[in-house]
Formats: sequence, C-alpha cells, structure tokens
Amino acid sequence: MERLGDDPESLQRAAEKLRDGGLVAFPTETVYGLGANAQNGQAVARIFEAKGRPHFNPLIVHVLDLAHVSEFGIVNAQAEHLAEAFWPGPLTMVLPRREGCILSELVSAGHPTVAFRSPAHPIARCLLEEAGVPVSAPSANPSGYLSPTRADHVAQAFKDIDGLLIDGGPCRIGLESTVVDLSSDGPATLLRSGDVTLDNIRAYLSDVVLPSDDTPLLSPGMLASHYAPHKPLRTNATTAGDSESVLAFGDSVPKGGKHLQNLSRSGNLIEAAANLFEMLHIAEQQDVTGIAVAPIPGGGLGAAINDRLRRAAHGD
Ligand code: AMP
Ligand code: MG
Repeated sequence: MERLGDDPESLQRAAEKLRDGGLVAFPTETVYGLGANAQNGQAVARIFEAKGRPHFNPLIVHVLDLAHVSEFGIVNAQAEHLAEAFWPGPLTMVLPRREGCILSELVSAGHPTVAFRSPAHPIARCLLEEAGVPVSAPSANPSGYLSPTRADHVAQAFKDIDGLLIDGGPCRIGLESTVVDLSSDGPATLLRSGDVTLDNIRAYLSDVVLPSDDTPLLSPGMLASHYAPHKPLRTNATTAGDSESVLAFGDSVPKGGKHLQNLSRSGNLIEAAANLFEMLHIAEQQDVTGIAVAPIPGGGLGAAINDRLRRAAHGD
C-alpha cells in the first residue's frame, strides 16, 4: 500500500480512491481499518481478498451519524438511545437491513442485518465526509493476525496490496469496538465486548443480555451460524435438473436447469464474490426446488466462495 500523511490533499486522494472502488487503510480510535465503499460489491470483495479470509463474515459499515444509518438500516428506539450515549465512538450496532438497501449484500454476508459504527477518530470522520459513501472496514490485518494499532503494522502486512494507507499515528483504544445486536424484537445482545462495557450499555438500556448457549445463531463476536439458502444446493454441478436454478461461473455453465445466472461471465472471482449472496437470494425465491452451482476454482477468493457454498450444500 502507498503510505500517505493525514494532510487535506492526502485525505482527498484517499476519499477519491474509496469512491472509485479501491482499498484505503485508515486509523480509527479502536484499530486501523481496511476500508472500501460499502455500496460497491467488488470493492468489498477486495477486502476479503486482501485479508485472505477463508470465509465471508459480515463487516462493520462506518458512517458519520445515525441519520446516515437510517438510509440503509431500520433504526429503533434502542439504537437511538445508544447512539445518543456512545456515538461517535467504539460501539457497533447490528440493525435490520432496510428493504431496497443499496449496500452490497457481501457486507451482510447474506444476513438480513447490517452492523453500523460511527467512528470518533478525526481522520476517519474526515475521510467519511470527503468520500460521501458508507465505508465497510474490518481490522486491517491479514486473517489470523493481530489487529493493527499502528500504521507500521498495516504497511508491513499489506506491502503488496494495491491501495492507500493513511498514517494517523497509534490508535487510542487499540481494541476492537463493542458489538451489540439490536436487530431482534427481544433484548439487546452483546456480541463482543470492547471499550464500551456491558455495564456502560446497561446504564442506557435496561434489557441487555449476553448470548447464551440456547441462542443458536450467535456467539461472542461471531456468527456461529452462517446464512444458508432455504433450498437444497449442489456444488460442482455440470448438469442441472429441470426444476433447479443454475449459477454458472465464466464458461463453466451447467447444462439444463432454469433461470441461469452467471456469477461472473469473465470468470473473475472478485466479481463472483460480489454477486454471490445476491444471486443466491434471487435463486431461492424462484419457482425451483433447488440450486445447482458450477465448479468454482479454488485460488484467492475462490476459497471463501467454496467455503460458503459447501456450508450451504450441507445445510449449516
Ligand atoms: P471486525 O470488522 O473484524 O472488527 O468484526 C466485525 C464484528 O462484527 C464481527 O465480530 C462480526 O461477527 C460482527 N458483525 C458484523 N456484522 C454483523 C451482523 N450483521 N450481525 C452480527 N454480527 C455482525
Ligand atoms: Mg478483525
């Protein structure tokens, strides 16, 4: 990545890079984030590629304030209370996706929810303002490495990645944001602890719980369960039955079936990742009994795509 300072020209360049679908690593008060325009599926897919994540998990979407959240998610009274108390700051809120939400489905990894945070760091805020788009950003470290709290950490880990890195010095908190799920009708659920503690939240919301073993979907900081289509799915399909919806990849088009969609006509894995959840959602709503998916090559993002498809095929 090319390293930049935090002067106005550099921030303008970085904002332009984000708008154009590129990657920008930037400081927040928690850790450095690896950001991309959350409305651009291919830009979001590049985050997963750069991090070498072996699977897709939902990403936090960074916005300036709650008014911006309401463009994409459904803001309830709990969210209003917590935003009033802790935003901008190290608290992430998971909310239902608004119908017709224009964020890439990849930021939700197929779930009907989106995680939002309004960062307090002045550089992060400046970048969001200049870019004028919501920015999805997980921690700027390769998968399996420690989260980066200094620009040096990011520069070393992402030497060969195309993108910009804004050096804003060390991060004040150095620990990922607190994540609270407000998307259900039930009590708020603390998914990950951070600088904002359970007690801090309880001062504003009477009903906050930790995920329990009998909450099958959630475990601390993670989604134990993944989005899975509600119809049987077959991978590595070269043929499809009359009542199967077909997902092809490049020239690899299963014979037969109906409602053909191509994850990427040119056989590009970044494009395929960007289309994956959207096309699966479309397929499961069609008048079909199942979904047949062509073989997807294993390199780069292919690993995460195949992981998702394998889980869908096994129903987990
Ligand atoms: P990271 O961006 O790597 O700091 O991690 C984001 C955290 O937020 C992860 O623990 C995710 O599981 C969680 N998260 C993000 N989006 C959602 C969502 N839609 N539902 C539940 N958890 C989420
Ligand atoms: Mg992380």
